[in-house]
Amino acid sequence: MKIIMLGAPGAGKGTQAKMISEKYHLPHISTGDIFRANIKNGTELGKEAKGYMDKGLLVPDELTVRILLDRVAKEDCKNGYILDGFPRNIPQAEVLDKELTRLGDKIDIVIDMEVPDESIIKRMTGRRACTSCGATYHIVNVPPKKEGVCDKCGEELILRDDDREETVKKRLNIYHEQTQPLIKYYQKKGVLKTFDGTKDMMDVFTEITEILA
Ligand code: ADP
Ligand code: ADP
Ligand code: ZN
Repeated sequence: MKIIMLGAPGAGKGTQAKMISEKYHLPHISTGDIFRANIKNGTELGKEAKGYMDKGLLVPDELTVRILLDRVAKEDCKNGYILDGFPRNIPQAEVLDKELTRLGDKIDIVIDMEVPDESIIKRMTGRRACTSCGATYHIVNVPPKKEGVCDKCGEELILRDDDREETVKKRLNIYHEQTQPLIKYYQKKGVLKTFDGTKDMMDVFTEITEILA
């Protein structure tokens, strides 16, 4: 099963993708997590991506697409995967489709999580992310057991540089301009399922599993 998570920054894509990944034993592929791991390890890729990410801009397609195609070609992706944060614009979606078509394959379902902009701003400024395993928390909605420490791996939780209010607003604009057109794109292909991302996260998860079952 090949799944795409679609939605604004902070819509809950990562949160749901992690739960789907555990239940269905599919790799969770987050391009944002891949970039952040590269930044942490000081790689060339990380250095190049960081400038764009800190400004709330998209990393250029050329770089992003190469990383994504390399990742999905790995052995653990044979039975499927969950893409979280890719594609983010029409050209990226077209490259992915072309590659899947070449392999005689396709995307099975696109999970679109809808959350209004006002709620997004509240969520993002309260988001805390693990610097090691990529788990996310929220200071009010999903607090960790111990403040500042990841429940899953014990590493430090941080406020991402790009989760400050001004940058979140920019990212939301980019979402509306470049990513939202993907809703129509996948609707036309008949694979889009829309979910109300403002609901409690376990309720959203239950609705998703009903569709995937
Ligand atoms: P995305 O991957 O779409 O950017 P995340 O999964 O990281 O979004 O979620 C953004 C923030 O909102 C996190 O702090 C997360 O804990 C919180 N969150 C996720 N889902 C919900 C929900 N259904 N209700 C309230 N808060 C949520
Ligand atoms: P969120 O879901 O909270 O917006 P992500 O972790 O998916 O955050 O992405 C963080 C940043 O990484 C983006 O703002 C962008 O700079 C970069 N990025 C991630 N995925 C892509 C992509 N597919 N194309 C271009 N840039 C990306
Ligand atoms: Zn962790």
